[in-house]
Amino acid sequence: MREELPGLPSTLGSLRRSVEFSAERIARRSVKDEIRGNLIRKLQGGEELFPGILGFDDTVIPQIVNALLARHHFILLGLRGQAKTRILRQLTSLLDERLPVVAGCEIRDNPYRPICRRCRELIAERGDQTPIGWLEREERYVEKLATPDVTIADMIGDMDPIKAARRGRELSDEGTMHYGLLPRANRGIFAINELPDLAGKIQVGLFNIMQEGDVQIKGYPVRLPLDLLLVFTANPEDYTARGKIITPLKDRIGSEIRTHYPLSLERGVAITRQEAWTERPSPVRVEIPEFIRETVEQLAFLAREDKRVDRRSGVSQRLPIALLESAVSNAERRALRAGEKTAAPRVLDLYAALPAITGKLELEYEGELKGPEAVARELIRNAVGKVYSRLFDGENLSAVVQWFELGGSLKLEEYAPAGALLRRLGTIQGLLEHLPAMGVSAQDPPAVRAAAGEFILEGLYAHRRIQRSEELGFVAGERRREAAGEEGRRPGYRRQFN
Ligand SMILES: [Zn+2]
Repeated sequence: MREELPGLPSTLGSLRRSVEFSAERIARRSVKDEIRGNLIRKLQGGEELFPGILGFDDTVIPQIVNALLARHHFILLGLRGQAKTRILRQLTSLLDERLPVVAGCEIRDNPYRPICRRCRELIAERGDQTPIGWLEREERYVEKLATPDVTIADMIGDMDPIKAARRGRELSDEGTMHYGLLPRANRGIFAINELPDLAGKIQVGLFNIMQEGDVQIKGYPVRLPLDLLLVFTANPEDYTARGKIITPLKDRIGSEIRTHYPLSLERGVAITRQEAWTERPSPVRVEIPEFIRETVEQLAFLAREDKRVDRRSGVSQRLPIALLESAVSNAERRALRAGEKTAAPRVLDLYAALPAITGKLELEYEGELKGPEAVARELIRNAVGKVYSRLFDGENLSAVVQWFELGGSLKLEEYAPAGALLRRLGTIQGLLEHLPAMGVSAQDPPAVRAAAGEFILEGLYAHRRIQRSEELGFVAGERRREAAGEEGRRPGYRRQFN
C-alpha cells in the first residue's frame, strides 16, 4: 500500500471531492462490479483480454468473460499445465489501476464503507482528514495453494480470547482478531489452487464468507463482510469426486469452466514457441527446424493419449517447453565445442533431453514396469514417425532404404561438426534430395540440413524400414540384412571421390 501518491487524493475529504473516486462511484461498488465495468469497456474497445494465452479464444476465454459479466465466483477445471494459474493472474488487468483504501488498514477498507473497528473509529475522529492509501493492481491479487494442513487461522484468521477479555471487548469484535489471508485480500481477487485439497472445515468457512459475510472462529461468530472475487482451480476428477467439495460451496461457485490442452498440433507449436526460452544471448545462433518443433509437440500429444501415462494428472504443456529448451541446449553445447556459428537441434538432441521428459510423466503401473526412460524413448521414436509420415506422404524414399539394404551403414557421431555430418549424409544416395519436402533448402546452414538428413533416417527407423544399432548406427532392417549377408558391401565404398 502506498500513501501520498502525487496527483491522487491523500485525505478522505479530497477523495470525496474527486470525480474519479467520488463516493457515488465507489462507495457501493464491489470488486466484481469494478471488474465487470472494466471488462465492458475492454469489450467495447475490442481489446485483447488475455494477451499471451493461446488457443483458448473460442473455448475458455468466452466462458470466463461470461462468468465475470455475471459477477460469478468461478473455478477453472483442468489438468496440469493448462495455463490455469496464468489466466487467473491476468485477471488483475481488469482491476482499476489504483484503488483508494483507508491508509494503514490491515484489510484495505473502503474509505466510504469501512468494516473494521479501527477504521470506523479513525474516520469518526478525523473525518475528512482521514489519510488515504493506494493499492496497485498487483497488490490486489492473492494466491494460495490448497493443502490439507491449511487451517482456519491461516485462511480466515484467529483470535485470542484472553486478550479479548483483557481489553474488555466482546469476542465477536474484530479488534481482537489476527487476520488470515482472505481478509487481507479484501477488495481484491483471491485465488485458491487445487481447491479439493482444502479441508472440509475450511471450505465451510469459505462458504460462510461468500454467503453471509460472517464466519465462526473458535466457536465465536465474527462479522466479516469481505469484498472479494474468489477464483479457484482444480483437477476435474478431484472436483467431481464425491465428498471432496462440500455441496453448499459448489453451489456458490457460479461457473465451472473447463480448460484443455492445445486442440491442434499447430496451436501447441505456437504455445511452445512463445514459452520456451530458445532465443538466448549466445555466441552461436540457434535455428530450430520446423520438423523438430513439430516432433516435440507431437510427443506431448502422443503422451497425452498413451495408456501408460496417468491421464488423471495429464501431460503438462511444460513438457514440450522443457524438452525443446533442453534439446536446444544440447545443440548449443555441440556447436560451442565444434566452434560453429549455428546450432540446430536434431532428433539426437531430443534423446539427449530425456530428463526433461521423464520428470514430467506420471506413469501407470505398466509404464513403471517398462521404465520411464524406455517409455520416453518410445515416445520420441513414435513422434518422429508421425511427423515423418506427414512430411513424406506420397514421397518415394525406397532409394534411401535400398542403400542400406545393399549393405550401407552410417553412424552419426554426436560431436561431428555439421559440415562433416552433412558430407556423410550426402553419401547416401538420394537422401538429401528429399530435404525440400521438409522445407529445408540448400540456402539453409549445414546444421539445419544435417538435422533434416538425420530426421529422414530417424523417420525410416521409426517405421522400421531401417534399423539402428549402437555400434553401426543406421543399417538395413533385420531381414534384409540377413539376406545381404556377409556379401553386402557399402555402395559408397566404390566411389573413388569419397
Ligand atoms: Zn480498516
